[in-house]
Amino acid sequence: MTPRKIDPKPCACGCGQTTKTGTFLPGHDQKLRAAIEREVGGLESLKEIIEGIIGHEIESIPSGGKRRGLLVTPELSGSLQRSLNELGYQFEKKANYMHGSREHGDSVFIHHSGLRVRATKYSRAANLLRAYLGQPNGSASVHGGEEDRLDTWTSSDE
Ligand SMILES: [Zn+2]
Repeated sequence: MTPRKIDPKPCACGCGQTTKTGTFLPGHDQKLRAAIEREVGGLESLKEIIEGIIGHEIESIPSGGKRRGLLVTPELSGSLQRSLNELGYQFEKKANYMHGSREHGDSVFIHHSGLRVRATKYSRAANLLRAYLGQPNGSASVHGGEEDRLDTWTSSDE
C-alpha cells in the first residue's frame, strides 16, 4: 500500500496560503471567480471577452453530437429574408416570428428571438437555411402533425 500522496502547493487564487490537496483552498475558487467577474463587470462581460479570444460562442448547456447553438441575429435574419425573398417567399410579420410563404404548404418561420427557425422540409427555404445554419438540430415532431413537415433549427435542446 502506498500512502495517499500529499502534494502541498500554493493556492491558485493567489492568496499566498498552501493547499494540502487540490488547486484551491476550500471556497477560494469561488472567491477568485467573484473577483474576476468584479474586475470585468460581470459574468456576461467575461463571456464576451473569452468569446472574442476563442472566436466562437460559449455554450453553457452542452449541445453535444451534431446539435449546436443557434443565434440568428437581426442582421442575419434580414439577410435570410432577402435571400428567401429572391427565392419567392413573401414575408409577413407575426407576433413572435416572421412568416415567409411561397405557396400553400411551403413556409419558413424565423422567430424574433433568433433562437428558432423552421422551414418546410425539402423546400427551397430548407435548402437555403442548411447553407446558412447547417443541418437542422431540432426535434422533427415537437407537437406532431404540422411539425413533422418542418425542419427545425433551434438553440435549445428541445
Ligand atoms: Zn486562496
